[in-house]
Amino acid sequence: KKARPFNFSAGPAALPEEVLQQAAAEMLDWQGSGMSVMEMSHRGREFISIYEAAEADLRELLAVPREFRILFMQGGGLAENAIVPLNLSGLKPGGKVDVVVSGSWSKKSAAEARRYADVSIAADGAASQYRSLPGNWQLRRDAAYVHICSNETIDGVEFHELPDLKALGSDAPLVVDCSSQQLSRTIDWSRVGLAFGGAQKNIGPAGLTLVFVREELLGHALPICPSAFDYKTVAEAQSMYNTPPTYGIYIAGLVFQWLKRFSYAGKTGVAAIEQRNIDKAKLLYAALDGSALYENRVAADCRSRMNIPFYLREERLNEAFLAGAKERSLLQLKGHKSVGGMRASIYNAMPLEGVQALVDYLKDFEASHG
Ligand code: PMP
Repeated sequence: KKARPFNFSAGPAALPEEVLQQAAAEMLDWQGSGMSVMEMSHRGREFISIYEAAEADLRELLAVPREFRILFMQGGGLAENAIVPLNLSGLKPGGKVDVVVSGSWSKKSAAEARRYADVSIAADGAASQYRSLPGNWQLRRDAAYVHICSNETIDGVEFHELPDLKALGSDAPLVVDCSSQQLSRTIDWSRVGLAFGGAQKNIGPAGLTLVFVREELLGHALPICPSAFDYKTVAEAQSMYNTPPTYGIYIAGLVFQWLKRFSYAGKTGVAAIEQRNIDKAKLLYAALDGSALYENRVAADCRSRMNIPFYLREERLNEAFLAGAKERSLLQLKGHKSVGGMRASIYNAMPLEGVQALVDYLKDFEASHG
């Protein structure tokens, strides 16, 4: 059978082929139930078993502590930019929210939070054109929470360690937009108050949003918060206050099972995928840095493992580069429209061979056009 192309989309993104095949095989009749998962009541025995397994597998994979609730929501990262301040800005009087702006997505988060809260930019990487993480954070003592984006999908800047707010003199909970980072690596929950992300990068189809939230942060929503977005209401209803995105949860569950089986370099699960993600990123950055045609402009200590933006020093070659890539079955390498250039997103489902195929193409294209 013909191999599938390698898909470098930033999201919705490639899924493991095994998962797509299993979903196809179960499409018309899920495990003898006579129903497609799409046709099941979310309150029926069959779907509840799918939901419970997905949640338990995710909790196990990421070693999520008991004091965190996992919510399966809708609206994506952008809706969470409003849902988070609606739920958490009332944690302290004054409704103050500190945001660290490390790129396009955290900038959007700050702008949206301003509609509901008193927002202060604690640090901004604009001066470095978002090529490094901003330092010298100005945190307010009475902030309700501090927001960061742990991986800037457009700028390609990643926190390789979450900040320790206590060490920075703040006792506010840390809120992390981990849309393009979640499940790609282990996470230090001791530093997290709440983490959210759309599923459409490492986890499953668009339409499902994951929220990991400390139990103690529930129950503080502003009166104007829509009930379906009140974390306490969602948590108490096991994510079934309204109809959850059932098919997305099912696919996510298959991805979690795939990841539990996954092994690499003598490791299994998230440790294995993290090691492969490290190896993939190393391979690609080395090829970019070793070339006279391509460049990645992000500081070495905060280069993203997931989203690798790069530019051709000769912009006139952009179209030829993309056309040649497509001929080699390397898809969706065009950079985000706001920054131009190219971007290779290499999420969990991208095998090492996909990155090797891209590196081979980079070299061949440079040899014929350089
Ligand atoms: N935050 C980050 C880091 C993202 O990458 C994205 C989407 N690419 C968003 C937020 C917005 O998410 P959504 O489109 O799911 O609303």
